[in-house]
Amino acid sequence: MPIHKTEALILNRRDFRETSLIVDFYSRDFGRISGILKGIRADLKKFASPIEPFSLNEIVFYRSKSSGLHLVSQCDLKDNFTPLRSNISRFVMASVITEMVSALMQPEDKNEEIFNLLISVLSGMGTNINPEKILSIFKIKMLSLSGFKPHLDSCVCCQDKIAGNSKFSLSLGGLICQKCCHKDLSARAIFRGTIASILYIEKNDFKSTLNLGLNPQIKRELDLILNAFIKFHLEKDLKSERVAERLVGV
Ligand SMILES: [Zn+2]
Repeated sequence: MPIHKTEALILNRRDFRETSLIVDFYSRDFGRISGILKGIRADLKKFASPIEPFSLNEIVFYRSKSSGLHLVSQCDLKDNFTPLRSNISRFVMASVITEMVSALMQPEDKNEEIFNLLISVLSGMGTNINPEKILSIFKIKMLSLSGFKPHLDSCVCCQDKIAGNSKFSLSLGGLICQKCCHKDLSARAIFRGTIASILYIEKNDFKSTLNLGLNPQIKRELDLILNAFIKFHLEKDLKSERVAERLVGV
């Protein structure tokens, strides 16, 4: 069995048999992978990490050729993102992030840009920057990097430049011009400011997007459209998103 070492964020974990854990990771060099940590529940000191969700670890694993479940022999904690764990809202928002990565990324689809984005976002969540804003930025960048980004540069049907009023179509995956509006009668109106904010966030690095001002009206519409778009593509709600919505304002 080939042996590998990589940095990996923990997406989720579940008990397996009497003493083991199965852990889903998003790793720098292999993308989303699953591993078994044998005997960890019988000997908590066996690995140099508490194996907490969204912690960053360095792992060593033996790659299984016959299944997608690899044997993890070493897991050393590098960053537990401690500051975001003391606040329930931030903790739940970090769970939305890991759930979204699990849902959007196929196993072993390596994407270092997504890995680096996750590190920046989880670090940012532990600061005094508004975590809701960080979450919205993450959703836009994640959709874009995983190939699900909404088509906003022109009309998704006729490719004409958008002039005047346009609508956003979930089923067609982007903006439709007035001429094409009949192609999706459920398309909804969208502020120009919302479109401009999404395009700005897609094109700029995470750090510069943190300075972008979002007025409450735009922020509300942005979240509504992003959540509907994610739900449409995943064909389900993100479970942690529902918890996060209930916690807003806590
Ligand atoms: Zn059109």
